[in-house]
Amino acid sequence: MKYALVTGASRGIGRAIAVRLAREGYNIIINYRSNDSEAEAALEEVRQAGSDGCLMRCDVSDREALTQHIEEWQASHPGEYIEVLVNNAGIRKDNLLMWMSHEEWRSVLDINLEGFFAATQAVLKDMLVKKNGRIINIVSLSGLKGMPGQTNYSAAKGAIIAATKALAQEVAKKRVTVNAIAPGFIATDLTGDLDEGELKKLIPTGRFGKPEEVAALAAFLASPDAAYITGEVISINGGLYT
Ligand code: NDP
Repeated sequence: MKYALVTGASRGIGRAIAVRLAREGYNIIINYRSNDSEAEAALEEVRQAGSDGCLMRCDVSDREALTQHIEEWQASHPGEYIEVLVNNAGIRKDNLLMWMSHEEWRSVLDINLEGFFAATQAVLKDMLVKKNGRIINIVSLSGLKGMPGQTNYSAAKGAIIAATKALAQEVAKKRVTVNAIAPGFIATDLTGDLDEGELKKLIPTGRFGKPEEVAALAAFLASPDAAYITGEVISINGGLYT
């Protein structure tokens, strides 16, 4: 059995990735923060996709708790390991820096960036020992370009992009690849408050992306065909910024 851990997999992009990886034959560990009903629905979709999985309710910014959850999973699956990690859990709390509260700054860094560190460190050792692994970090156009009103989010995603490039070089010899996917506007709850009608005028393809389109890219990066791609940031943004 091949196992994949997707953080923030109860909704949106993470859920689409979980379902897509299930279709590719992975057993999915669905991490989420609090939305039990959506997580159950995601697990049901994973099963409908022909695989199975389990739920891991845990805030990724709580490093101790996340490490404990992953260690418990490892203890209950002797001889098995998490072959694919998708660091997807993320939030945005937009504000101009001038008016940004420390909580808005801190929580966005804690969930996006600290979450990446906690999950990656917890699964990396097994990947190195097995000499096989895929780490896929969901970042953002904001982390490449910088977006006004998102200094916190841009800083977190930009930091993960730099960490992706550094870690890729640390672990390449052990056949572990580390890549980042940088979506533009994707239709999920995260972008539900944005004016899609206005924003899509800025996008050359004239629409928001679908979570399933990001999932297809993640599935490719997880596949053996992508073994020679590492340390890359791949944009998926309808031509908005390249
Ligand atoms: P959604 O808001 O639709 O879903 C967020 C998911 O993350 C939910 O499953 C949520 O769980 C989970 N989550 C949130 N906080 C935590 C936490 N502290 N610990 C564990 N899980 C958590 O977001 P998207 O699907 O749109 O975004 C997914 C990723 O893609 C994020 O990293 C985001 O920054 C990135 N992204 C999204 C873009 C977009 O346009 N949508 C564009 C660029 C990047 P629960 O259901 O329990 O709340």
